[in-house]
Amino acid sequence: MKYFSLNNQSPSVTFKEATFRGQAPDKGLYFPESIPVIERDLIENIGSYADDEIAYQVIKPYIGDEIPAAELRRIVRETIAFPIPLVNISKGIYSLELYHGPTLAFKDVGARFMSRCLGYFSSGKKGKTIVLVATSGDTGGAVANGFHNVDSVEVVILFPSGKVSAVQEKQLTTLGNNIHALEITGNFDDCQLLVKQAFADADLNRKLFLTSANSINVARWLPQQFYYFLAYKQWQHKEQAPVFSVPSGNFGNICAGILAHISGMPATHFIAACNVNDVVPQYLLKGLYEPRKAIPTLSNAMDVGDPSNFVRILQIFDQDLPRLRELLSGFTITDEETRATIRRIKADTGYLLDPHGAVGYLALERWLQMHPGMAGIFLETAHPVKFFDVVEPLIGESVPIPSGIASILHKPGESRLMKSDYDNLKEFLLGI
Ligand SMILES: *Cc1c(COP(=O)(O)O)cnc(C)c1O
Repeated sequence: MKYFSLNNQSPSVTFKEATFRGQAPDKGLYFPESIPVIERDLIENIGSYADDEIAYQVIKPYIGDEIPAAELRRIVRETIAFPIPLVNISKGIYSLELYHGPTLAFKDVGARFMSRCLGYFSSGKKGKTIVLVATSGDTGGAVANGFHNVDSVEVVILFPSGKVSAVQEKQLTTLGNNIHALEITGNFDDCQLLVKQAFADADLNRKLFLTSANSINVARWLPQQFYYFLAYKQWQHKEQAPVFSVPSGNFGNICAGILAHISGMPATHFIAACNVNDVVPQYLLKGLYEPRKAIPTLSNAMDVGDPSNFVRILQIFDQDLPRLRELLSGFTITDEETRATIRRIKADTGYLLDPHGAVGYLALERWLQMHPGMAGIFLETAHPVKFFDVVEPLIGESVPIPSGIASILHKPGESRLMKSDYDNLKEFLLGI
């Protein structure tokens, strides 16, 4: 498979090149030259296929022979090596729990797949591959965890001192081995600036192979299709395909679901469930795309004012808005509605939503009210314990910490405190 840049100014590249580059030189997102068609038997008899076989069949056409079959099967197996259950919550509403991975959020899937592909492509290469990321908290944890102990890759994570939560800091600093945490005296923007300086430093890039683990990377985007197929495998009402409601920020997750559907995965409809950062729902209503500054909300991983993956959705639909509207609806959910939903669903069903999942739940419920007799799935993208400060006061009880996280809270973290100064960073990178 070749990948072209959606800005059309850079040459097409292989999967390997797209994975190393992240973004095309013309700043465009990479997009596959064709969308594969899944074999009918896999859809019709999905219940008889093992999860890792499904994932392998889905991703294989995107990789071609760039990774040998046995290796790709191993990568896929390790990517989804945790449960992804579909749970019935209320009449016609199911939760796809994507939070059973090591950092309790769906980004684990993309990060684990990408890290293993980079590891494969880097083995046997001269010199080390260094993944350099700045994080304000969450993405860094998923990336660090995804790359932990992957051969031939070193990860350097910059985080702002005192500005990430205690749990997030533990997730970054307790891994060790090939994961290096740099605690920068400054804010997130300072971290990001240092990373940009490193990528722009020609001298450094001659000596080292630097890459980013950006969320728009095709190796993070494409594997997100896996769990849509796994949801369909668990869907009991095969006579009526599910509606998928996806809590959306940068629109990578929902775009992967739509891609899976175009490839052959049955779905009745998709819902872009947004907080008040609702550029896409507004676009679907008015036909005008008006990016703006992000507004802080309770579902903060969705506070995005100009979602980068939306161009990929437009590409899938050839910029045809009427056709897009047939498959995709948008909903805007306020913080007040998010809180009320968390409280109500806990009281009525016993199920605890996190703020992102609550946005997905309410959007789905509203759509179903307008389409009686249908049923659907919302993606529960994070474990509620990650947002205990929001959730606990609403339900008046504490949320137990899953054992995997509880154990790291007692581990001593290791990080290097560094002034926000590029020469210090460069010296550190050259010494790895
Ligand atoms: C990143 C994230 C989202 C948004 O996903 P996109 O692919 O950016 O739309 C939703 N929920 C949680 C918990 C996230 O971490």
